[in-house]
Amino acid sequence: MQLLYDEPLARHSTFGIGGKAKYFIAVTNVDELRQALLFAKQRNLPFFPLGKGSNCLFSDEGFDGLVIENKITHLTIDDCYVTVGSGYSFAYLGEKTAKKGLEGLEFASGIPATVGGAIYMNAGANGKETKDALFEVEYIDENGVQKQFRREEILFRYRYSSFQEMKGMILSAKFLLTQNPLAKQKQKEIITYRLDTQPYKAKTCGCVFQNPSAEKPAGKLIDMCGLKGYKVGGAAISMLHANFIENQENATADDVKKLLEEVQKIVREKTGYDLYPEVCIVPR
Ligand SMILES: Cc1cc2nc3c(=O)[nH]c(=O)nc-3n(C[C@H](O)[C@H](O)[C@H](O)COP(=O)(O)OP(=O)(O)OC[C@H]3O[C@@H](n4cnc5c(N)ncnc54)[C@H](O)[C@@H]3O)c2cc1C
Repeated sequence: MQLLYDEPLARHSTFGIGGKAKYFIAVTNVDELRQALLFAKQRNLPFFPLGKGSNCLFSDEGFDGLVIENKITHLTIDDCYVTVGSGYSFAYLGEKTAKKGLEGLEFASGIPATVGGAIYMNAGANGKETKDALFEVEYIDENGVQKQFRREEILFRYRYSSFQEMKGMILSAKFLLTQNPLAKQKQKEIITYRLDTQPYKAKTCGCVFQNPSAEKPAGKLIDMCGLKGYKVGGAAISMLHANFIENQENATADDVKKLLEEVQKIVREKTGYDLYPEVCIVPR
């Protein structure tokens, strides 16, 4: 376990944006994670649990504390129960379980998250959310105390879990899936559709705004306002999917924030809908 100083956060966000973290550490097991939490506590530093940074807009000024990158990646599949470290790739988990004929996480295969980040955000796609297949979660609080939560004990809503109110880190998860030989086929269809309709090769953070409703998704509202291609600095609304912002030319976090504000204003004026960010705007 190596402590890094002034680590550029742009390297750790799919947006490719962000200043430096004062301290940065990657943890591969619970003991390392405990040590990292203690390091922060002893110095009275804020800490930030980082998955794959696929939903993080870091500040241009960086993060004045400890970023803890999650590399806890154990995996056990026992019949229909899947126990997995929170740093495991959510996309790969979706692919792997579908390949084994297990249904429930096919939607995950297009989401470039960690399992922990997906639970924290209650990530979802294709009519499914992470909570749907979840059985239980192991959590460690800021004092290093481990806790177990059954799914019923966690509050979930659209892109929300009660972990967003807590200070600590999701450590591992158990999912309960069902046998279905068609799972692999379903997963393949999902990934093909996504690759055709979303800008996967660009530097983005997925959808930047929450959908006001299923009938009025944010992308449709933004598109209706003629905003595809709209730019602030190096950040632009994707031509392929209007709810994605692309970092096209060394965009700064400020460019993205200004673009978010302008889109909110224009959409409100032209459609009456308020848009709220889905992307986590990480304070300095
Ligand atoms: C191309 C692309 C497509 C996407 N498609 C989708 C989609 O279809 N559906 C969807 O919902 N999202 C989608 N996203 C957004 C993103 O993948 C999700 O929000 C995902 O849940 C973020 O996971 P992460 O591990 O990258 O978390 P990060 O971005 O690293 O962190 C996000 C938040 O979760 C917290 N966090 C991360 N890990 C933990 C942990 N172990 N314990 C406690 N807190 C933690 C962080 O502190 C932060 O507040 C997409 C993103 C991209 C780039």
